[in-house]
Amino acid sequence: LNRRLAEFGTTIFAEMSALALSTGSINLGQGFPDTDGPEEVREAAVRALRDGRGNQYPPGPGIPELRLAIAAHQERRYGLSYDPDTEVLVTAGATEAIAAALLALLEPGDEVIALEPYYDSYAACIAMAGAARVPVTLRPHLDEVEGASFRLDLDELRAAVTDRTRLLLINTPHNPTGTVLTRAELAAIAELAVERDLLVVTDEVYEHLVFDDAEHLPLATFPGMRERTVTIGSAGKSFSFTGWKVGWVTSASPLLTAVRSAKQFLTYVSSGPFQYAVAEALALPDRYFTAFREDMQTKRDLLAAGLTEAGFQVFKPAGTYFITTDIRPLGAALAEEGDGFAFCRALPERAGVVAIPNAVFYDHREAGAPFVRFAFCKRGEILQEAIERLLKLS
Ligand code: PMP
Ligand code: GLN
Repeated sequence: LNRRLAEFGTTIFAEMSALALSTGSINLGQGFPDTDGPEEVREAAVRALRDGRGNQYPPGPGIPELRLAIAAHQERRYGLSYDPDTEVLVTAGATEAIAAALLALLEPGDEVIALEPYYDSYAACIAMAGAARVPVTLRPHLDEVEGASFRLDLDELRAAVTDRTRLLLINTPHNPTGTVLTRAELAAIAELAVERDLLVVTDEVYEHLVFDDAEHLPLATFPGMRERTVTIGSAGKSFSFTGWKVGWVTSASPLLTAVRSAKQFLTYVSSGPFQYAVAEALALPDRYFTAFREDMQTKRDLLAAGLTEAGFQVFKPAGTYFITTDIRPLGAALAEEGDGFAFCRALPERAGVVAIPNAVFYDHREAGAPFVRFAFCKRGEILQEAIERLLKLS
């Protein structure tokens, strides 16, 4: 393994999902739903396969039907208008979109500011591009009304920009903290990007998973942002088909052309028949998205209540399907002295539940040490069983 990748080893998701299997634990680690997406979308994939649509290489940028559907979705939901031919790209999941964007837009030595904790592929892709990551840490914050959440310190963000900063890598709703950036925070990020002439890659794969009165606002909708922003979405997340690996990029044409150049040589194209099905999924009526969000919010409330009762401090997420907790209230012994890694390694044996230590998403490991993430995109009875197991911990 070369020096750029040597620090990354095996992803935590592979490690923890293997541990869940070998110990027969409930897997609240890796974020994937245990219920597949809509029947009619699966049927659309079957029809495409049977009819021989997409069984041979589809067009490199994605089939026209899907690019049109992605553009229509951005227009309908956010009033963002993109040309399906020159401003939309289909990728092999959001993961490839992130890789292609960073490989296309960064020069060796460029600095990339990312919100810490960050989704693990960001660090690896920045490294593969030969660039340097500059983490800005989201800090735990207690608000009397809103409760506990992780917040961005805008002064810290501003201070992190140097003459070598090329790009801001933003993620909202944010994995693993569940933070949804507010209009004021996004406006400040946008102002900074314009003032310092920065590119922005924004990972919005959880765009449809926002709860209560939280609202997802795409960064590309802010003044001066459309021409400098690369936006990423995922059918895995929005339609509960994580195994299909269909994602997409929307951006102004010069940036899109750059990202497409990199994508050509990563996978050339993404899986054909699934593209036809995702095109139909994106055209589902709003009630699909509402039901999806409401269902996930019920699961969030169930798991948040259970974790609280079991003694964790819960950072109730405004978005995503993850809950970050602080394990320290469990007591020093059970919480492994606040070491989330040790806690997650012991949890399958102790309780038959798998979770993810947030420390893996930090450069400043000590800042993330006591935090542990649980996924709630699981059936109610599975969450209930996990809660019962966790209640026996103490
Ligand atoms: N970005 C974030 C923030 C994610 O949580 C995930 C999936 N877990 C991805 C990107 C990757 O999405 P995909 O499965 O579409 O590659
Ligand atoms: N995005 C999901 C998570 O954060 C799954 C990631 C993966 O398996 N690479 O858990």
